[in-house]
Amino acid sequence: MLQEIQLPVVVDTKKWAIQDSETLYRIDGWGEPYFSINEAGNVTVSPKGDRGGCIDLFALVNDLKQRGLRLPMLVRFSDILADRIERLNATFAKAIARYNYNGVYRGVFPVKVNQQRQLVEEIAKFGKPFQFGLEAGSKPELLIALATLRTPGSLLICNGYKDAEYIETALLARKLGQNTIIVIEQLEEVEMIIRAATKLGIAPVVGVRAKLSAKGVGHWEDSTGDRAKFGLSMWEILETVEQLESANMLNSLKLLHFHIGSQISNISTIKDALREAGQVYVQLATLGAPMGHLDVGGGLGVDYDGSKTNFYASKNYSMQNYAYDIVAAIKDACADKVPVPTLTSESGRAIASHQSVLVFDVMGISGTPHQAISALKEDEHLIVQNLFEALENINESNYQEIYHDAVQFNQEAISLFSFGYLSLKQRARVERLFWECCDRILKVTRKLNYVPDDLEDLERAMALTYYCNFSVFQSAPDSWAIDQLFPIMPIHRLNEEPTCRGTIADLTCDSDGKIDRFIDLRDVKSTLELHPFIAEEPYYLALFLGGAYQEILGDLHNLFGDTDAVHIHTTPTGYKVEHVIKGDSMTEVLAYVQYNRDAMLENIRQETERSLQEKQITLDEARLFLQKYEHCLNGYTYLS
Ligand SMILES: *Cc1c(COP(=O)(O)O)cnc(C)c1O
Repeated sequence: MLQEIQLPVVVDTKKWAIQDSETLYRIDGWGEPYFSINEAGNVTVSPKGDRGGCIDLFALVNDLKQRGLRLPMLVRFSDILADRIERLNATFAKAIARYNYNGVYRGVFPVKVNQQRQLVEEIAKFGKPFQFGLEAGSKPELLIALATLRTPGSLLICNGYKDAEYIETALLARKLGQNTIIVIEQLEEVEMIIRAATKLGIAPVVGVRAKLSAKGVGHWEDSTGDRAKFGLSMWEILETVEQLESANMLNSLKLLHFHIGSQISNISTIKDALREAGQVYVQLATLGAPMGHLDVGGGLGVDYDGSKTNFYASKNYSMQNYAYDIVAAIKDACADKVPVPTLTSESGRAIASHQSVLVFDVMGISGTPHQAISALKEDEHLIVQNLFEALENINESNYQEIYHDAVQFNQEAISLFSFGYLSLKQRARVERLFWECCDRILKVTRKLNYVPDDLEDLERAMALTYYCNFSVFQSAPDSWAIDQLFPIMPIHRLNEEPTCRGTIADLTCDSDGKIDRFIDLRDVKSTLELHPFIAEEPYYLALFLGGAYQEILGDLHNLFGDTDAVHIHTTPTGYKVEHVIKGDSMTEVLAYVQYNRDAMLENIRQETERSLQEKQITLDEARLFLQKYEHCLNGYTYLS
């Protein structure tokens, strides 16, 4: 008879090293050159890439907590932003030199990607040496761009739906020296521009956005092609030229723009679009428009999974390839026919993604608990005996067979219990033994290169849930809305093997408030390797590359508001906290849905008064309750 349980058959004696964590979380793939792991097993941030300065992220977060910041917190690294802008400009400069391109690059940042004031101001500042401009996609964004951009020679591209007020504001701004270019996205706008220009007596500079037939693939595939929401088809472009000509304004047409969607994973899509756009450009110049600018829109991708493939979460080209292809294609298209244009890209994702890191804490876990299993006693039920035997014998050659046996024993136990042949105690014992078997089988399969299909779901079924102090809807909305993948990993304990597999659940009461898709070299994995959670000890995870779109798309589901945010600037001796932006208080979030703080407090005061009159509450309790209520109103929407 079996008396005790042996250790798992496969024992890994090799000590876990930080290199193992590097490989596991693929940090070199997506994080290079900004994120890495140090000897202490903590994530490090090198905001200037390989040009020096390295910050221990775990130590930084602890330091920021000392300064009163709360988790979850968004840490923005200003120098990463600067580095992205420099890199983009450097790659175009290199491409221009390599192809002897007789023109320049003047990029713009599309404000819609992240409108936070401090960030847009930093972009304008860091972009100054490159005459880097801004792109607005709406009236409020135009107002931001006008209030922020102070760079002579930079462009201010005006996209999006426009009314007369938008157009007149953009025109008048030219008198302040802003180089506003109004991009016609709808045929109706031509008439509006002609009218506004005539009324104000200001010569406009206009562009046309072309609907190309080259199609992206993936989520933004419909941004182009005949059914695209924006842009002019070829006959509409011709119509625009004619309308401008008859208003004697063809000399204002100076730019061709296209945008084939965001996160273009495959360089061949970009090449197709460039070939088509190059021809449109040459034709417009041939028709007598002065032209001089080509704006290739956004789309420059970010390698979220570090696989360097055309997978949707990745891209199969470098920023340098992108610049080479644009410069070469446009030089080629213009050949000796027309002078080459100034090149513009509206790269938002590629500039803003890397600079911010969302750090959040794990509050607890749930899942199949690991408890010691007491030894088998002489007279136990046959099913229990069978499971014990199965458990003891699991090895690399029979794990699949044993798995099926264990499933069957468990099923039998459930039936026997239903018919009253098994006690609750016996059923519980079977349950524990069954999960123990599954756990050991998983340990065996994890060491194998190939896992049979019938066992793949086991990993998911056995995964622990890590309850985390953040809201997916507020901080990573694209993860929920469009299944976007972001690299997520612990920021410390990386010299320790992450022996658990888990999924992430957020604070909201929404069953969609979870993350159960994680980056992997091949495709996507459904669980993430994490460390055993130790109660009362901090366990911090971070979501990386979320600096584009997530902040503004985030919403107030369950009334979880903006997180605390901080701007970190590297200094020769370490770092400096540049800006601290406190997250929303409950009062602010409640005001958004029309609750008035004072009215709520008064209401509560009256309720306590009533209870006092009815002698249901003591004066002390009433005071305490009011204090708590008011304290909450002033406080953070997340858990403290
Ligand atoms: C969204 C958008 C961009 C930004 O695209 P990224 O892929 O983030 O660089 C640029 N231009 C236009 C017109 C857009 O709508």
